[in-house]
This record gives sequence, C-alpha cells and structure tokens, in this order.
Amino acid sequence: MTDVNVHRKLLEQERGRLLSLKENLTEAVEDVDHVSSGDPSAGGHIADAGSELFERSRDLSIVEDLDAQLADIEHATARLTNGSYGTCEACGRPVDPERLAARPATRFCLEDQKKSREAQASRASRR
Ligand SMILES: [Zn+2]
Repeated sequence: MTDVNVHRKLLEQERGRLLSLKENLTEAVEDVDHVSSGDPSAGGHIADAGSELFERSRDLSIVEDLDAQLADIEHATARLTNGSYGTCEACGRPVDPERLAARPATRFCLEDQKKSREAQASRASRR
C-alpha cells in the first residue's frame, strides 16, 4: 500500500482543479444574474433572454456535474482511508492502474463502468 500517498496527491490535485473550474463557472453565472437584473428600461434585450437562460442552465448543469465529480473524489478519499481504494465497487476486482491514474476518482473497473454507462444510456433513451 505504498501507493496511498500517490493516490491521495492525485485526488487532491483533481479536487483543486474541479474547485477552480466550479469557481469560474459560478462567477460567470453570477455575472449573468447581474446583467439580467439590470435596468429594465434599457429594452431590446427580450429576445436574448431565452438564450441567456439557456446558457445559464447549461452552466448550472456543468456545476452539478462538477459537484458530482467532487463527491466522487470525497468518496474515493474515504476508500483510500479504509483501504478499499483501487478495487471495483461492483465486482471487487482491482481496477487497472492506468485507469486509476487517468481517473483517480473512478469507482468501477472498465467493464462495470461500461455496463453502468449502457444502463444510463438506455434509461435516457426511454425518456
Ligand atoms: Zn468491476
């Protein structure tokens, strides 16, 4: 288990990267709020409101996605502490080290990740 410190460092780096991304996005969303609550007599802005709203909701869903990734990192950090880090949560087998290096917060082996992605895709297409 000499890799624990390496993994912890990778997770911390990833966490820092996601947090700064989130900060930038949150600032961008607040800027939009500021603009749209501006002087209503300025006019000529109504046609833009729809696309502005769209941009904003897209930003918000990115923030939600970042939150989910941050939660995964918290989760991975906890597993690092209890010694289960690096094993697949579905089948219990070790996750490919290369995969862990690329995605330190990953919870599943490649095979089970694929299965869960397929399950998500079939859920989405039923909508
Ligand atoms: Zn698995």
